[in-house]
Amino acid sequence: MNPRIDVVVCEVGLRDGLQLVQEFFPTAEKLAWIEAEAAAGMPEIEVTSFVPAKIVPQFTDAEEVVTRALGIGGLTVGALVPNLKGAERGFALGVHKLNFVLSVSRTHNLKNVRREREESVADFRRIVEMRNARGTRPMLVGGLSTALGCSYEGRIPVDDVRRFAAQLAEAGADEILVADTVGYGDPAQVRAVFKAVMAEVGRLPVGAHFHDTRGTGLANVAAALDCGVRRFDASLAGLGGCPFAPGASGNIVMEDLCFMLDSMGLRTGIDLNRLIALREILERNLAGTEMHGAIARAGLPKHYVAAADRPLAIA
Ligand code: ZN
Repeated sequence: MNPRIDVVVCEVGLRDGLQLVQEFFPTAEKLAWIEAEAAAGMPEIEVTSFVPAKIVPQFTDAEEVVTRALGIGGLTVGALVPNLKGAERGFALGVHKLNFVLSVSRTHNLKNVRREREESVADFRRIVEMRNARGTRPMLVGGLSTALGCSYEGRIPVDDVRRFAAQLAEAGADEILVADTVGYGDPAQVRAVFKAVMAEVGRLPVGAHFHDTRGTGLANVAAALDCGVRRFDASLAGLGGCPFAPGASGNIVMEDLCFMLDSMGLRTGIDLNRLIALREILERNLAGTEMHGAIARAGLPKHYVAAADRPLAIA
């Protein structure tokens, strides 16, 4: 990890946010967003999803977006993959990181990728084997979606999350990502789940992906930080709603996350003023889509000094 960064944040709005947007977000505008956010210091961006274009037309330009994003120096370019077919597209392009998803909720996995969770693990194992046969890249992330609740099954047992985290780690994941896909999680539950997962896969980095659907997003980040998590997904303006709750907020808001981390003395490497200014790209392309974010509304405090510019805190 970059020694000047304490917490790695990853922009997921181009994937998690745009997958729900019916109108095509022009490729040039996606690239303008990626370039400007990388210039603001974003270390990692999930730029697209390798799902079939006929299922999500928003991602018909996946190849072009990845290829162009790979030309940006210093940026880690990630993409979501639902299966081996998607991973093959990522391998061909030389993407840095592939985020594989398995839903811990059996019902959600069956509806989302039409197979049992064990079959998803077997597919991930094949992806790891194929990657290993090719070389060292890309990094493979084992993502556990619906880990803090499911709109079909409700509460998800902590032990199920732990078990599937163990299976993905054993299959060869380089990193585990625990996701509250529908925004059901609360801080107490976050502590229980992350403690169990980190005890199980301790040698691997564990990231968190929270949604703020019910207002618990940043509280969950604080709980995960207490558990030692140092990787967080978020999206600019909290883009990414919930298909079951029109108007609901989506991913945690990147601007607010970076402000909170920075205020806590945890460096993200992000220039907050430049990040907030980026909302303009969304405003001009997503007329009618609600933009979220407290910092964009209230402004930075007058005395604000970025963590990077403060004398080092006593560890
Ligand atoms: Zn999500």
